[in-house]
Amino acid sequence: MALRGVIAYIGVGSNLEEPLRQCRLALQKLDALNDTRMLRTSSFYRTEPVGVREQGPFINAVAEIRTELSARTLLGSLKAIEEEMGRRESLRWGPRLIDLDILLYGQDILQEEDLVVPHPEFHKRRFVLAPLCEISSYVIHPVFGISMQGLLTRLGYDDLRGVVKIQQTDG
Ligand code: ATP
Ligand code: CA
Ligand code: CA
Repeated sequence: MALRGVIAYIGVGSNLEEPLRQCRLALQKLDALNDTRMLRTSSFYRTEPVGVREQGPFINAVAEIRTELSARTLLGSLKAIEEEMGRRESLRWGPRLIDLDILLYGQDILQEEDLVVPHPEFHKRRFVLAPLCEISSYVIHPVFGISMQGLLTRLGYDDLRGVVKIQQTDG
């Protein structure tokens, strides 16, 4: 079978209402999207929250998919999953039921008002780079020309928030 479509990486996060369960559900829904196949998923990671304080820890994971959807259609599908799961408009970096971000879409670079790919912040976020490196440490960031492992190594002391791999049997 010919390999069609583009390999994309999706960041998954939640810190409300049994976040591990929300992340698992989101991954199932991602796997069920039309013209999209789940290739690999990382472990789940527990992360201290950024920005708005006084909220519970996040659970984060990264999924590798192969998709025939355009980046824009994929973004629409991710937003539809967020809505279906009951995410309400919320504070940026505040508590949320589920957050699905397009981290990478092949080696494409997109700079549109509501769609920036690669995701503009992920190279600074240990909670993205740690799970991403677990599944695809060799992938090159198309803007910086540095691998995911290189970005994680360079993060050094810039992001000291604890990011801890959790046991798949938890929760
Ligand atoms: P951050 O973007 O820093 O991770 P966030 O995920 O909390 O913050 P949201 O409120 O979920 O931000 O999203 C705001 C908007 O970002 C979305 O409506 C979407 O149109 C836009 N957006 C731009 N680029 C992307 C991308 N690569 N993946 C997902 N959303 C994106
Ligand atoms: Ca996000
Ligand atoms: Ca988002």
